[in-house]
Amino acid sequence: MKGITVWRDALAGRKIRETGDMLRDNGLSIVSLCRGGFFPGTNKVKRKAAIDDNRKAIEEAFELGTDKIVLVCGADPSQSLKESRKQIFEGISSLLTDAKAAGVKLAIEPLHPMYADTRSAINTIGQANDMAESIDSKYVGVAVDVYHLWWDPDLKKEIMRCGKNNKLFAFHICDWKSPTVDMLNDRGLMGEGCIPIRKIRSWVEEAGFKGFIEVEIFSNIYWQQDQSEFLKKVVSAFKDHA
Ligand code: ZN
Repeated sequence: MKGITVWRDALAGRKIRETGDMLRDNGLSIVSLCRGGFFPGTNKVKRKAAIDDNRKAIEEAFELGTDKIVLVCGADPSQSLKESRKQIFEGISSLLTDAKAAGVKLAIEPLHPMYADTRSAINTIGQANDMAESIDSKYVGVAVDVYHLWWDPDLKKEIMRCGKNNKLFAFHICDWKSPTVDMLNDRGLMGEGCIPIRKIRSWVEEAGFKGFIEVEIFSNIYWQQDQSEFLKKVVSAFKDHA
């Protein structure tokens, strides 16, 4: 089975329902819409605007015909991580009615701590599990991305906890290149770096995950290359290393 994650930017200027049909007609399941989130901010008006934008994302996911949105939860460096987490909790909680009505699940993606300043105050799978458990809705779970979580000594334990809670909503793979020269866009093909991808995949599967394994390689280097060649490299790296 083949699937695709749709970025909201890519929907700009398109008819969303028709785009979903076009992808399905080409044999692709729509795994998720990426991304919602960015809840924290010191300004109340901005926080409200973020929640409204997430409501819009839920509508878009519904129109597109996918049942999942990945949340990059956000952070604001001018306040504490604790305060940002509180605002993330409030933000996600205020979306539950909309999520349920649309049948769209929200997957909290914990991000590597190098992004704790502006991208996410949720930096470990333990924190994501805590958040999902405290919100306690079947519409809120966790996205496990090896790039963000591979270093965590509690990773296996927390993946099992997530699975037991039925909250393991997504699994993303790529590799951590050494050295990494760009914090955002220097991810490697599977096998190019130091992440034990197969081991983590075995934990995720042991925890009961049966969904798509999403290859997510943000890379200035690969994006400059011929994209059909890049896709071939992705397929071969997936076969050999995932
Ligand atoms: Zn990811």
